[in-house]
Amino acid sequence: MTESEQKVFDILGTQKFDIGIMGMWYGANYGSVMTYYALNTVLSRLGYSVLMLDKQAVETKGFEFELDDTSHARVFAKTHYKNFAPSLPVEDMKVLNNYCDTFMLGCDQVWNFTIAKSYGLNYYLDFANSDKKRIAYASSFGHEVSFTPLEKVAGVTRELQKFDAISVREESGVRVLKDEFGIKGTQVLDPVFLLDENDYNELVKESNLDIQEDYMLAYILNPTDEIRESLLKISEKKNLKLINILDGNPNKFERFKKALNLPNTVSDITTQDWLYYIKNAKCVVTDSCHGASFAAIFGTPFVIINNENRGAARFNSLSEMLDIKDRYFTGPGEITKRCDLLETYDRNKHNKIISMEKQRSMTWLKEALQKPKDTDKTVKKVLKKECCGCGVCYGVCPVDAITMEFDDEGAIYPKIDFNKCIQCGKCSRTCPGLHPYSDNFKEPKCFAGFGNDEIRKKSSSGGIFTIIAEQIIDEGGVVCGAAFDDDFNISHIVVDTKEGLEKLRSSKYIQSITKDTFKEVKKALDEGRSALYAGCGCQIAGFKRFLGKKYDKLITIDLLCHGGPTPGSFKKYMDDVHKDKKVKYVGFRDKDIYKWEINSTGMTVKYEDGSEYRKIKAEDKFYRAFTRAFTVRPHCQTCNYATLPRQGDITLGDFWGVFKYNPDFNDDKGTSLIIANNDKGMEVLSGIKSKLKLFETVPLDFVLRRGQPLDKPFHAEPLRDRFMSMAKYASFTKCLECCEQDTFDYAYFALKPQNMDDAYRALEEYKLISMGNFSVLLVWDRRNEEISPLKYQVYEFVREHFPAYVEIKNDDEALGVQGRCRNFVFTNEEYVTWGKANVAKGAKKINVRKLLPDNIKIPESDGEQKKQIINKLKKKLSYEDKWSLYRIEAGVKWRLKVVLRKIKK
Ligand SMILES: Cc1cc2nc3c(=O)[nH]c(=O)nc-3n(C[C@H](O)[C@H](O)[C@H](O)COP(=O)(O)OP(=O)(O)OC[C@H]3O[C@@H](n4cnc5c(N)ncnc54)[C@H](O)[C@@H]3O)c2cc1C
Ligand code: SF4
Ligand code: SF4
Ligand code: SF4
Repeated sequence: MTESEQKVFDILGTQKFDIGIMGMWYGANYGSVMTYYALNTVLSRLGYSVLMLDKQAVETKGFEFELDDTSHARVFAKTHYKNFAPSLPVEDMKVLNNYCDTFMLGCDQVWNFTIAKSYGLNYYLDFANSDKKRIAYASSFGHEVSFTPLEKVAGVTRELQKFDAISVREESGVRVLKDEFGIKGTQVLDPVFLLDENDYNELVKESNLDIQEDYMLAYILNPTDEIRESLLKISEKKNLKLINILDGNPNKFERFKKALNLPNTVSDITTQDWLYYIKNAKCVVTDSCHGASFAAIFGTPFVIINNENRGAARFNSLSEMLDIKDRYFTGPGEITKRCDLLETYDRNKHNKIISMEKQRSMTWLKEALQKPKDTDKTVKKVLKKECCGCGVCYGVCPVDAITMEFDDEGAIYPKIDFNKCIQCGKCSRTCPGLHPYSDNFKEPKCFAGFGNDEIRKKSSSGGIFTIIAEQIIDEGGVVCGAAFDDDFNISHIVVDTKEGLEKLRSSKYIQSITKDTFKEVKKALDEGRSALYAGCGCQIAGFKRFLGKKYDKLITIDLLCHGGPTPGSFKKYMDDVHKDKKVKYVGFRDKDIYKWEINSTGMTVKYEDGSEYRKIKAEDKFYRAFTRAFTVRPHCQTCNYATLPRQGDITLGDFWGVFKYNPDFNDDKGTSLIIANNDKGMEVLSGIKSKLKLFETVPLDFVLRRGQPLDKPFHAEPLRDRFMSMAKYASFTKCLECCEQDTFDYAYFALKPQNMDDAYRALEEYKLISMGNFSVLLVWDRRNEEISPLKYQVYEFVREHFPAYVEIKNDDEALGVQGRCRNFVFTNEEYVTWGKANVAKGAKKINVRKLLPDNIKIPESDGEQKKQIINKLKKKLSYEDKWSLYRIEAGVKWRLKVVLRKIKK
């Protein structure tokens, strides 16, 4: 037995537990302690045996929740939980697999990376074996972002993917999960709301306090002079004694007491005392989310001061859920004007909301616990965001159960035939998305170089690819790279003649499909031939994993790559921009009229009738969309392969800005950035050196400062998803116009759904309008929204299905829509005269329901009837594109107002 195994055995013996709870139950924060108490109690009442996992044996400097055995949290835990696992080093947490069937991550800021990072990836349950269930209940990022550094996103994503069920506490958490990690989460109630007031009354009875005098309670975690002044004013106005509770961490007490500088500041209280104070106060003023939650639970009137230091996300979420936005103040000064709020709190409304939400959250929790563990061994678990489309899984499957198919964004992904699959796990074991790896130099050697002018004329940059490829051909080897077919579909092909190389030369800015080339090149290598495989980093990573071993006679070249536009998006561009003529040639980087200069390069399309289309990068629509990364596949945004160490033996790219290092290295005909990533790369370069006109060392530092996708992915484009989902309905040109300018043809005021049928209909109408080739912004009216579980259902539905939407919570926000939308479509006359939406002067306003009355059923499948409806709508919706000055002014004013508000904050 290891030391850790022995340690656990000494305490738990041979006991087994249904659930091990991981989280900050031992922390200083009273509210946090209560979330774990509630979770533990709920699970125990559901009949599960629960083990509380202790804090790992690591120093967590800066986060002062390392309290000793006498701390209020541990004293509370000892008297209220039955079983504890001992504290273990981060790397030994896996010992607990011998004791628990399921690991559950609890509430509070467990996914705030600045906190979580001290524990490796333990807060993502990385220690759980693959046969154990992983569940997150109401876990929180605490803020509107996760603070996960870019280089850690892939690792965190991989662990999150292994969860069987994920729920988060805040609405913003659902967004962070989706946007940062591509993971679906569900919003549930903070566990403290899963218990009743009576449960907490039992704890209150355990307190030794007995206060007879009326008092007002201040529970302030981040004291300031401004808060102090407000508290004094309020207690004076209400003629109440003021009692103050500070952060539950004794190490902070003296500092915070001094900062608040008020009498009656109590220290050294138990968790039960904390509850007592909240329950028995006449009113509560707090900057703590849990302070407010418990005031609400006990029905004590309260107000909340936003605590920016601790993140606004949960305050927003709480105030929205409980419909208590009026009790939520951004600054303490404002509270003194609203002392009326400290008189009563509407328990009936609260109970109605909580009981509905509780039902929904408990259903989620029970289902998550009862759902059998998914034991699937295929690449099904690889999310779109993680899959680069390399096709290794397709190549290695021993029973041909995988095919590569295009999705509706026109990107390629594996599809598994589970009737054929034998669950051998080979596909997921080889997938580079799940196992990114490279043993190349972390600090590679860099060079500037180019070949002769003739080679460069037909190459994108310095022609290095051709020089290496010709050498391989001369040796009798094979070369694999990307080529167009006659219909301008792009895929990798294998050639073994110099004529064949012609098709591979020059960049085609579309993601190439590897098809069966991994097998073909492996065959050549196994026959003892030399081979060169060139492509983007993902393709090289995939090929190397496919081979599974090193071949002396193989050279790999990966390209610097800032994203691969999907083949579907290129087709859409061709069908839109070049639809009128038969195309016979496409060139992205022709060097006849375009110079080798980052902004002067451009698109060439030659037609059968002899005419030509020529546009520089800034004018061509495909290039513009590519440059903004609107058309790249999802994984390109967090690409695992645009990093150091690189994937190929050699990396090639354009050496933009090389003149800043040495003006002689640039003659406007193309200079390559050449990177040797390992000894073989160095050897290959020494071999071709004599064939190059330029080959000079350049320091890595200089190269890294060029901002190329060498050590990190290009950048994430927030409007990519909008472009791609719009592209399902509207033309390439329309999507580009809408995303570049962030403006829309129509604002579609539709959604205030009473049920999901309304939401489905809204989507159907949205699609029909879009199909008329209009850009549409769904305006989601959330003013005076009824609080119901439907809200969450609709929320998830809208996020998933509408390419572009905006939520409007007050009339003021409606003004923001004015400056972004040319015209307005309504579903209900109410909107036409609605508040400030009236400023939509000069805009076309159409009641779409009048065009499509209820009794007209929108046909589900495409067909003649649907075409007719679209045409009818198109006719009615067509407008002259003249902007109303009034609306632009309104939009500008609104934006200005928002900026000023932010600055003021
Ligand atoms: C999608 C893509 C994005 C790129 N982004 C950048 C960038 O951000 N910065 C930068 O400096 N360089 C980038 N490049 C690389 C650059 O365009 C040149 O390919 C590189 O400089 C090599 O030029 P060359 O003159 O040596 O050879 P060339 O003859 O121009 O290059 C031909 C090689 O590129 C391969 N190739 C062509 N199209 C594709 C494709 N669609 N997929 C995979 N391989 C392809 C061919 O197989 C061949 O191996 C990108 C290339 C691609 C394909
Ligand atoms: S990354 Fe490659 S191996 Fe993994 S699932 Fe996608 S296509 Fe298959
Ligand atoms: S698990 Fe094995 S059989 Fe099933 S799809 Fe993957 S490689 Fe093919
Ligand atoms: S950005 Fe990454 S995933 Fe996308 S095409 Fe380039 S190397 Fe492949």
